[in-house]
Amino acid sequence: MEQILGGKAALITGSTSGIGLAIAQAFVAAGAKVMLNGFGKAEDIAAAQAACGGAPYHPADMSKPAEIRAMVGAAQAAFGKLDILVNNAGIQFVSPVQDFPDEKWDAIIAINMSSNFHAIKAALPGMLAQGFGRIINVASAHGLVASPYKTAYVAAKHGVVGLTKSVALEVAQAPVTCNAICPGFVRTPLAEAQVKPLAEKFGISEEAALRDKLLEKQPSKRWIEPEEVAAMAVYLASPAAAGVNGAALSIDGGWVAA
Ligand code: NAD
Repeated sequence: MEQILGGKAALITGSTSGIGLAIAQAFVAAGAKVMLNGFGKAEDIAAAQAACGGAPYHPADMSKPAEIRAMVGAAQAAFGKLDILVNNAGIQFVSPVQDFPDEKWDAIIAINMSSNFHAIKAALPGMLAQGFGRIINVASAHGLVASPYKTAYVAAKHGVVGLTKSVALEVAQAPVTCNAICPGFVRTPLAEAQVKPLAEKFGISEEAALRDKLLEKQPSKRWIEPEEVAAMAVYLASPAAAGVNGAALSIDGGWVAA
């Protein structure tokens, strides 16, 4: 049976863990070749590569534009083309704005937002020349609505949604699309790390902190699983999604409907 992403070549940033790794695995299962990126211990990176059929890996730091350009070039060289770019790498930091460290602000804006711009700028000419491209930016529910104490993250993710729309309009008449995925809380190290500090802050159990604090705004009261986000990415990369462009697709258990 023909696979939905058969013959396609994809680059997924931040794919050594969490959502990015789930997207990489789902793409491979759908027939694509993938290049991985992200930080981690050598054995964890090797395990991620093995889980993706021996996929190549590039160590580019998403806060460094020259490394991002080199990574896109390496993917194009490895596969002879780049069909799908998933901008997924991201970090989080939580603090009242008046105490928010300048270097954390700069890092979150660079990694969570500006990296998307640099990767798109490098990848788009090849997509336009070959007549096919899919750009998928992993934004967040925090790209559509805000929460307190996450100023840099909320600003960066709103920026990603704006960038997505603008690029989508620029490519609207080409066989290239640019969309954003806006997950609520997904069961990954990035989100799970927020549970314990909440439990300590409010003097409650981690179970209560998850249900009543972290998932306070997520009406489903359950984690979104990384595989659920990956399935949305596979759809956006597939031929069936050719008419979906400039969208910010929520997968958040009803969060932004409230
Ligand atoms: P994660 O911590 O599991 O994975 C983050 C990935 O980004 C890792 O591979 C990490 O090595 C990589 N990374 C971090 N800094 C990097 C850098 N400077 N250069 C290259 N790679 C870097 O987190 P996750 O939850 O899977 O997050 C993935 C994306 O999904 C992020 O953009 C995040 O903001 C977004 N998101 C997550 C949630 C959630 O609840 N987990 C919700 C909405 C959006």
